[in-house]
Amino acid sequence: MEHGQQEQVIKAVQYREVGSDPVVVDVPEPEAGAGQVVLDVLAAGLCHSDIAVMGWPAEQVPFALPLTLGHEGVGRVAQLGDGVEGVAVGDVVAVYGPWGCGRCRTCAQGQEQICERAAAEGIRPPGLGRDGALAERLLVDDARHLVPLDGLDPVEAAPLTDAGLTPYHAVKTALPRLTPGSTAVVIGVGGLGHVAVQILKALTSARVVALDVDEDSLDLARTVGADEVLRSDEKAAAKIREMTDGRGAQGVFDFVGAPPTVQLAHDAAGTGADVAVVGIGGGALPVEFGRIAYDAAVRAPYWGSRSELVEVLDLARAGAISLHVERYGIDEAPAAYARLHEGKVRGRAVVVPG
Ligand code: NAD
Ligand code: ZN
Ligand code: ZN
Repeated sequence: MEHGQQEQVIKAVQYREVGSDPVVVDVPEPEAGAGQVVLDVLAAGLCHSDIAVMGWPAEQVPFALPLTLGHEGVGRVAQLGDGVEGVAVGDVVAVYGPWGCGRCRTCAQGQEQICERAAAEGIRPPGLGRDGALAERLLVDDARHLVPLDGLDPVEAAPLTDAGLTPYHAVKTALPRLTPGSTAVVIGVGGLGHVAVQILKALTSARVVALDVDEDSLDLARTVGADEVLRSDEKAAAKIREMTDGRGAQGVFDFVGAPPTVQLAHDAAGTGADVAVVGIGGGALPVEFGRIAYDAAVRAPYWGSRSELVEVLDLARAGAISLHVERYGIDEAPAAYARLHEGKVRGRAVVVPG
């Protein structure tokens, strides 16, 4: 900073101390160093994972606080560091969140979310270890993380970077099992789940059965195209067996991941099913020969690849998926997190800082 110049500040939503609620504070405006890009944030989504992270005890938090939250972001390019090519000031872009080293085997495949070196090199996603998108401005490490929005609405597009990308990756992995005549089960029709239903309808001819404990979420599931909706309770697996003539489901996507839902996922899985435990609700799913269906595969997928984000944005542009969003100003972000914590958000809560 030059002598006499006032330090510029921006508003940011921060998690400042273990166990405390998020707060809106002024922080110094980020500056783009060599190779970096600064965005004016247009929209940032609130993910239930943020609630989980803010519930971890101190010894489990793998990064320093305070932290600016927000790992789903869309912005307009405001400043380019030295040497940045391929984007221009004014471009509107979505941010690919699970940054990797960009050079290892998996990063070379575009699968930066499972970078082999990120942990060793201390590379973390914005909002999950690096300052995130719940702020007026966001610093992005490299232009390769930016995907042009090309006409998508920024508020609907922000959740596509996680609430869209994560179920897209899970469904794409399961596609070989989701043949005509198959059944796909979606457990938890929240931010991720309501997009999962639409991705399944767009990419497969599977019958989609959606489950939730909340009536409004079941209504949302119907609105976005679920063929059947069920209350998520101890009778649900038997009902799924009944509606599939005893076969069970070929794809089960659990966006809760709590003990009762992984049990439901286990019991609903038919022969050769692909079971994806996406939610981080602390449920463990035992894989025991003779108990889980023959040839069932259980996965714990994480986020998605760079090329999959490009595909998700294409799918949205084609009109095959649309996000149901609740909009909030940046000062309302702590209240929006409280609503998410209480299970009151339908679809995705998105903060519009401007
Ligand atoms: P959300 O709060 O928007 O949605 C959760 C939904 O599950 C709500 O509709 C709620 O009513 C429903 N639900 C709660 N208990 C249920 C039960 N017993 N049975 C059925 N439905 C139930 O959450 P979200 O942001 O969509 O995130 C979903 C989960 O996925 C969270 O655990 C989150 O941390 C996790 N997540 C994982 C990844 C990953 O890469 N694996 C990425 C993003 C989010
Ligand atoms: Zn998330
Ligand atoms: Zn890597």
